[in-house]
Amino acid sequence: MKSGREKRVAVFPGSFDPMTNGHLDILERSLEIFDRVIVAIAFNAAKDSALFSVDERLEMIREVTRSPRVVADAFSGLLVDYVERSKASAIVRGLRAVADFEYEFQMAMMNRHLRPRIETIFIMASEAHFYTSSRLVKEVATLGGDVTGLVPERVRRKLLRKVTEKKAR
Ligand code: ADP
Repeated sequence: MKSGREKRVAVFPGSFDPMTNGHLDILERSLEIFDRVIVAIAFNAAKDSALFSVDERLEMIREVTRSPRVVADAFSGLLVDYVERSKASAIVRGLRAVADFEYEFQMAMMNRHLRPRIETIFIMASEAHFYTSSRLVKEVATLGGDVTGLVPERVRRKLLRKVTEKKAR
């Protein structure tokens, strides 16, 4: 156990391309467990196929998360190295369908192999967000579908702008 004065810090890693209400739900619930949560965009400069740039994603995270206990950041390289550098003790991941489980389980085991002291905490998706993923939200928006309620309103507007820009190219 950490002493009373030490803060419990967790890293919530992902692509967040863009941040959805499913991500926000996991974030809010992780703030009940941790004092500070770092929402960390994992990117690979050599092959980042994201729709939004890292800066755009950081800005969206900052716009929709108002708690002083949330930090938005980006990193490349090994997650466990980043967690260590951030002085965090845990990794938070959201679990949706069973389909998420195998990949998440493998990742958690590998991360434990690399750094046994870093714990991975899984938070089950809420029923309302069970089917929400950044990939599907982008697909629906690209095809002209309504993504209201799946992403925060600010994200929805930026997504529509981005999709329109992309089509015009
Ligand atoms: P990745 O590219 O690794 O899937 P994402 O940005 O999609 O990263 O997601 C980051 C984390 O948020 C992952 O742990 C993912 O399972 C979780 N997540 C994404 N969408 C939801 C949702 N609707 N409900 C719960 N967890 C979610």
